[in-house]
Amino acid sequence: MRFDIKTRVFSAYVIVLMLGAVLAALVYHYGNATLGASRVLTGRDVPMLHDISTLQIVTRSIEIDLYDYYTRQDRASFLARYAQQRNDTAHLLSALRERTLVSSRHHALDGLYAQLDALTDRFYRIMSAGDVDWDHARKRLKQVSASTNEINRVLTEIRAEVRAGIDRSGMATETAVNRTRVLVLALSIAIFVISLFVGYHSNAYITDKAERRRLAMFPERNPNPVLRLSLEGHVMFANPGAEHLLQLVGEDARDTSALLPYDLLRRLDDVRVTEHSYDTWEYRVGSRTLECGIHFLPDLECFHAYISDITERKRAQEDLVFQAYHDALTGLPNRRLLQEQLAQTLHAPGRDGMRVAVLLLGLDRLNVIIDGLGHGIGDDLLLAVAMRLSSILDQNSGFADTATQYCFGGEVFALLIPGFKTSNLPIRLAEKVNEAMCEPLHANAREFFLTFSIGIGVFPLDGQDADTLLRNTDTAMNRARELGGNTLQCYSEDMNARAAEWLTLENHLRHAREHDELRLYYQAQVDVRDNRLVGMEALLRWEHPQRGLILPAEFIPLAEESSTMVDIGEWVLRTACIQNKAWQDTGFDDLVVAVNISARQFQRQDLPELVARTLSETGLPADRLELEITESVAMQDVNHTTTTLCQLKAMGIKLSIDDFGTGFSSLSYLKGFPIDKLKVDQSFVRNLVSDENDAAITRAVITLGHSLKLKVIAEGVVTEAQLAQLRHDGCDEVQGYLYGEPVPADEFADLFRGRVLPVAASSF
Ligand code: C2E
Ligand code: MG
Ligand code: MG
Repeated sequence: MRFDIKTRVFSAYVIVLMLGAVLAALVYHYGNATLGASRVLTGRDVPMLHDISTLQIVTRSIEIDLYDYYTRQDRASFLARYAQQRNDTAHLLSALRERTLVSSRHHALDGLYAQLDALTDRFYRIMSAGDVDWDHARKRLKQVSASTNEINRVLTEIRAEVRAGIDRSGMATETAVNRTRVLVLALSIAIFVISLFVGYHSNAYITDKAERRRLAMFPERNPNPVLRLSLEGHVMFANPGAEHLLQLVGEDARDTSALLPYDLLRRLDDVRVTEHSYDTWEYRVGSRTLECGIHFLPDLECFHAYISDITERKRAQEDLVFQAYHDALTGLPNRRLLQEQLAQTLHAPGRDGMRVAVLLLGLDRLNVIIDGLGHGIGDDLLLAVAMRLSSILDQNSGFADTATQYCFGGEVFALLIPGFKTSNLPIRLAEKVNEAMCEPLHANAREFFLTFSIGIGVFPLDGQDADTLLRNTDTAMNRARELGGNTLQCYSEDMNARAAEWLTLENHLRHAREHDELRLYYQAQVDVRDNRLVGMEALLRWEHPQRGLILPAEFIPLAEESSTMVDIGEWVLRTACIQNKAWQDTGFDDLVVAVNISARQFQRQDLPELVARTLSETGLPADRLELEITESVAMQDVNHTTTTLCQLKAMGIKLSIDDFGTGFSSLSYLKGFPIDKLKVDQSFVRNLVSDENDAAITRAVITLGHSLKLKVIAEGVVTEAQLAQLRHDGCDEVQGYLYGEPVPADEFADLFRGRVLPVAASSF
């Protein structure tokens, strides 16, 4: 158990009081005893000694007077003296009797005096006879002498006893006095020592208290907020500084507790157990940043809270940090921040095959412009370039959130792609940058055309750490500069070759339509119940003069990055409509052609208009056209999807969700789309028979589709077993190599001559 100083001083003070009381009681007690002893001495023993002496003298006088009477025979004076002596003797004996308790001695004394009286009487009568018998008288005188001797002896004994009594009571008094003295001394020393302790601590306490009282004046004059809090965290005192700050933060001016951390109670608990009973916190109140130091004062049973408004300091710190990590002109993150973020990205766990790319973009010829037209123009152009780059990464560009933009000062910008899997993403982005720079920049009411020398570095190929990667990317950028600018260079030769190939391909694709290199293939869609052909999906192919037939997976992402895909999409739609119209006209008027709509096409506001125009120009009935959008495209912007689909649906066009199960459709959204069909993605159909999970997903999609009154078609059906399973699960239609691969239109026409398709094994 721990006692605070206040308790200790109080206890010591109580002990002093108790010791004082004990001392007083002892002094009183032993004083009484001593007083009793001295009273005995003065009131009894000393008078008794005096009486005894007087009695001895009187007795001797009687003897002397008898002798005197014998010799001088003066009867009258004898009688007078004798009467007086008898009186004195009686008086002294009576006083002696009262003072002494020993009665046996009194009896003896009384007897001796009675005997002396009788002898005296007899002597007097002998002496009073006419004829004095002198012999007889002398005999009596001898007897008187013997008697007075005896009386003196007894009196001497009594006196010896009284003396002994006096000695004893003197001893007792001395002992009592000594004991009192020792006790008084001991207790006085104890009281003195404890009083010293009490005095010392009281003085310290009083000094401390006075000091505290003086200190307590400080909060009043302190311009910083100071609060005193109860153990429960209630504000007991707030200085004028606190009220001033309260007005600054705009809180209710009466409630200074608004200045304290919102989780105050937890913090108070923490402060109690910290080593120095003190801790500080930073937090925000309104628009201000406050710092609060809380001090626990157990002896005062309260907390003191010292609050400072550190808003300006924080802002200054943040400004400093911002300046350290950002380019002064453009406000973009600078090289230092790129280095740190790159290092962090590279060290982040679980990269799992993800790549990281850095693009360094050096503006070509900027120095020439600055030399000629001045730094003002140079700065304006840098700002314009920064904005142009930002627009590439904004929400609607297709590169949204793929990269972060940096400016190194001077004329170098950078883009960091923190994680990607498609190997050509950096090149596509670089291409996009170059494409964006084809548009003129405006500064000082003039037009400028600027280009970039772009260096690309990819982790882990071009550097295992941030520094190496940046250094190598820098090398690549310088190589692009050496090549005359307006070009991109990858650090590794391998990537360079692929980039070159990719760029060539993209360049060719732009002209594929003009050069009549696009082909549309058709793949049958069949009713599961009776193997009847119900429609076909139009699938694009590119017949490249050198590389032969290229599948859409290879070139559609390229086309999607530029506006090429819009052109190609238009061509596909028109061609498919024309083709189906031709088949309709030959009697197969219930076949529906399904056309894939790309993300870029679907984003365009004029899609419904384009479809309507195409239908009217080709003459294909709207219900013989089906448009497929993938699940992920449908979920990109749900509002836009709903609007577009409703417009298309209103025309009577059929709609389906392609690759269903690969995106993250929300059922509630799906319900809101006016669609006709779900296309189960072929990745589930592939292992339908062997993988229980895929089978379950397929079954679930079928059930879901039916519950929403939709048809369900399974893609990629290759085996009889898959077909049997799908038929068993109630799937409506199928599409896949089992019934035929996608083929050109003329080959496809042969397929539906009989309308009921035999499965692939027998038909092809
Ligand atoms: P999709 O729309 O899901 O098309 C089905 C793909 O599966 C086609 O590949 C088709 O050839 C393939 N396929 C069909 N049956 C089987 C099968 O039994 N086994 C396997 N392994 N594959 C089968 P394709 O023609 O290479 O097209 C790939 C993707 O390219 C299409 O997937 C579609 O998203 C896109 N695409 C094709 N043509 C166009 C088009 O004209 N415009 C747009 N925007 N995208 C298109
Ligand atoms: Mg499709
Ligand atoms: Mg599909």
